[in-house]
Amino acid sequence: MTSRTFLITGASRGIGRSLSERLARAGHTVVGIARDARDASFPGTLVSVDLSHRAETEAALATLVQRYAFDGVVNNAGLIRPQRLGEIGLNDLDAVLQLNLHPAIQTVQALLPTLRAKGWGRIINISSLTLLGVIERTSYAAAKAALVSFVRSWALELAQTGITVNSVAPGPTETEMFRANNPPGSSGERRYLSSIPMGRLGRPEEISAAIAFLLSEEASFITGQTLFVDGGASIGKAML
Ligand code: NAD
Repeated sequence: MTSRTFLITGASRGIGRSLSERLARAGHTVVGIARDARDASFPGTLVSVDLSHRAETEAALATLVQRYAFDGVVNNAGLIRPQRLGEIGLNDLDAVLQLNLHPAIQTVQALLPTLRAKGWGRIINISSLTLLGVIERTSYAAAKAALVSFVRSWALELAQTGITVNSVAPGPTETEMFRANNPPGSSGERRYLSSIPMGRLGRPEEISAAIAFLLSEEASFITGQTLFVDGGASIGKAML
């Protein structure tokens, strides 16, 4: 097996943490970014960066690409601010778009020279089932739709470079982010559960398995795609 080096944003918990553990178990080197990097049990190197700060992110990435010969990045950090249409604040909209989108462009731009030089690379944006339409997620769903759009454009631009670009769109998954917005027994949880044909939430390991496949050597002919990992919730729904 070829041992690769991957950058994962939002790696300290939830889906990013599960992915970090999975990749490390498979023999890959993992560099994770989180706001708080104080975690001795992290299966790799965890770096403290607040991705909502443009300059801090840029400086941290410049240091990281000097230190590591990256083979790919998973843009996993995300931000939700649930709001009904009548309550959407433009500052909240900006914050959600910023955190979901700016770091994704910054990481890819930082890594691209290395990936191009290697003639091999993997870029994955973590989107969301919500991009298909859901109440109270105007800004979040728009950001997640843009991440899918990025993937299609980047996949075409990079199609002949050995670098593939894909997206994974999880359905409701049992993580801190999900629980912060949908406590057990809440109307939000009931609404999501009733929309999932399998009748249950996803587990972080089930999402990270799909991401790891798209990062693998075997996924070399797949680019520009969005893989829904959602217990069947996207079946019969049009993407656009
Ligand atoms: P989580 O809240 O459990 O973990 C989020 C991670 O992002 C943490 O490591 C946190 O430190 C990091 N992060 C957040 N803001 C940051 C910032 N400003 N700077 C640096 N790091 C920051 O989240 P999760 O549920 O594992 O979600 C991971 C991704 O999957 C997100 O993009 C989310 O939108 C997406 N997603 C989650 C679900 C779900 O139901 N959990 C569903 C669809 C999509």
